[in-house]
Amino acid sequence: SVALFTLVGFGGVQAQNNQKTSDIDKKVEDLLSKMTLDEKIGQLNQYTARWEMTGPAPAGSSEQQLLDEIKSGKVGSMLNVTGADATMKAQKLAVENTRLGIPLIFGYDVIHGYKTMFPIPLATAASWDPSAAELSAHVAAVETAASGVHWTFAPMVDISRDARWGRVMEGAGEDTYLGEKMAAAQVRGFQGNDLNSDNTIAACAKHFAAYGFAEAGRDYNTVDISEYTLQNVVLPPFKAAVDAGVATLMNSFNVIGGVPSTANPHLLRDMLKDGWGFEGFVVSDWNSIGEIKNHGVAPDLKEAARLAMNAGSDMDMEGYAYVPYLKELVEEGLVDEALIDDAARRVLRVKFELGLFDDPYKYSKLDEKGLVMNAENLAAAREVAKKSIVLLKNEAGLLPLKKEGQKIAVIGDLADDKDSPLGSWRAQAITGSAVSLLEGVENAVTDKSSVVFEQGPVFVANDPVFTQHLKYNETDPSGIDKAVELAKKMDVVVMALGENCFQTGEGRSQTDITLKGYQQQLLEAVYAVNKNVVVVLMNGRPLVIDWMAEHVPAIVEAWHLGSEAGNAIADVLFGDYNPSGKLPMSFPRSVGQCPIYYNHFSTGRADDTGTVFWSHYTDESNTPLYPFGYGLSYTTFDYSDLKLSANEITGDQKLKVSVSVKNIGGVEGEEVVQLYVQDLYGSIARPVKELKGFEKIALKAGESKTVEFEISAADLAFFGADKTWKAEAGDFNLWVGTNSQTGLKGQFKLK
Ligand code: BGC
Repeated sequence: SVALFTLVGFGGVQAQNNQKTSDIDKKVEDLLSKMTLDEKIGQLNQYTARWEMTGPAPAGSSEQQLLDEIKSGKVGSMLNVTGADATMKAQKLAVENTRLGIPLIFGYDVIHGYKTMFPIPLATAASWDPSAAELSAHVAAVETAASGVHWTFAPMVDISRDARWGRVMEGAGEDTYLGEKMAAAQVRGFQGNDLNSDNTIAACAKHFAAYGFAEAGRDYNTVDISEYTLQNVVLPPFKAAVDAGVATLMNSFNVIGGVPSTANPHLLRDMLKDGWGFEGFVVSDWNSIGEIKNHGVAPDLKEAARLAMNAGSDMDMEGYAYVPYLKELVEEGLVDEALIDDAARRVLRVKFELGLFDDPYKYSKLDEKGLVMNAENLAAAREVAKKSIVLLKNEAGLLPLKKEGQKIAVIGDLADDKDSPLGSWRAQAITGSAVSLLEGVENAVTDKSSVVFEQGPVFVANDPVFTQHLKYNETDPSGIDKAVELAKKMDVVVMALGENCFQTGEGRSQTDITLKGYQQQLLEAVYAVNKNVVVVLMNGRPLVIDWMAEHVPAIVEAWHLGSEAGNAIADVLFGDYNPSGKLPMSFPRSVGQCPIYYNHFSTGRADDTGTVFWSHYTDESNTPLYPFGYGLSYTTFDYSDLKLSANEITGDQKLKVSVSVKNIGGVEGEEVVQLYVQDLYGSIARPVKELKGFEKIALKAGESKTVEFEISAADLAFFGADKTWKAEAGDFNLWVGTNSQTGLKGQFKLK
């Protein structure tokens, strides 16, 4: 293949030369010129709140020490200080006591809502609707700002292909292209057009980089990733966030090629700052500077501080490394003071952009009560939640259910759980504040007495919040009998199965992603007496549900959907909303298939040779149970008339691809039309297919629409062995269809 062109733009600096920026730059330089080295280093230091900060600190305590440090200008930022009262008080300490009165920036993990909980990010990605992700982030920003917080540690844009990893719930799943769209949408939602406004907060794309590639899906484990995968799969969503103007990035805990990300100058300086033109700042992950030591790359914290600063990590989150050591490192000539200036400049710029120098308290003065968890925000949460639901199976038209004249059993420990739908990472959500599935079903039917609940066995046996290991109930199956008795008497069974909110999230990886406790036994026992079972899955990751997929007629993937979960699920169960979500991650048939993803390479022995000598398992197929991009509707969409504007394009031409999609069923619905491309051969191996476009369209019964995509050489470019981005001439396949495994096929050539 011949290299066509190198994508200069990919490493280019975004032009951002408006008046405001240069005004801010002037103010930053002016302030910087007045600052001592100590004061600059103070700006690079972030501590967590150790108590609520609304009352006095106990004398002589570490809290008192924290207050003193803030007053003496040793702290530039705090995390986990929330609420108008606390942020106001903490801000006063800095503004009224330090020599230059520089305000603090308050950061917090607002991952899928502040108090009004939206679906977990993996679920939102299943909507394949960037505007839904944007809305979710926007409402979260409004509520966060109203509580005095300026900055969220979101979006997590880590690509993850391994469902064992607990943090898959926080990202957009396995695909880079979908990940780019969701990353940009969330940045827009959090930050809006102007950081200096009452309803926006600074965003943080994390974890830079490759955190989602922990070996064996075990959180914080070693990452060993090729330059190919790093560049083509992992980094583009970060680049998309940077292009969308993200104010900050966060380091990842892991090493890449043995180099801790927090100490990686190639990643942070050459690529992110110099290459992509990122002007915001990089915050370490929690003590990730200290962890440079744990990785065995620094003998002590001082050396860790030197490595992190030289690499381009601007702010030290809870590592206690910068304040104690940076000054002496500068004095000893081991860190160039210009690097400290650069880091402080970046932090100050974001503070100016947020308007904190105009009014350090402005966020703490908003109407916290009126703006947080109001009816409008809850309505938005329901809207996003219903779009995030994926219909996995619906045989014999069991769904939608009837609101009248059907006796409905609601079964399962998760069915009346008002907490698990809030998911992991729940900021200030009120415990137990979600609408449960049972409540949602009861709200939807005309006569509540047609709905009867039976819990079945409890499946998590201990209080899981901060315990190391969840203990599943493996000893007490009582409850199954009652559930079976109920199921016998009812027309249909709605059964909630899956995971509670503490089975996923940070530090919550699992080797076994099947149903825990007695859930599988409960399902089989109930199904034995009543075949009309609708399983509603609640989970933060793909699960292994092979038996269920084979037997049960209807399966609804409902993730952890947030505050309005039960109502949104009922919208789908009773047909008020026609499900339109598609899986953002492949569902494996068995745990041993992990990591499993659709855009893999073809191996030298990909096909069944009739012998054992091809790439396969002897006890399981290679295909997933449900592929990436998969999801059903209550109607049927027919694809026809795939047209390509040309058989060949040159490097500066665009290929237009159009397809006609018709709703041939009886109800209106939405379809995510997906475009995949395969580069048939290249200078290095190329994936079997890659998502390159999607569009979610709404069609009335009988209506058809033409959907158009455009492909240019830039879309076909990849990072190759020569370490540049380029598209290579050659033959391509493309498919347009309803998921990653089916579609109308076309071919074209890039000249
Ligand atoms: C997580 C980050 C998070 C930070 C602050 C870390 O342990 O990896 O994602 O933002 O804690 O809470």
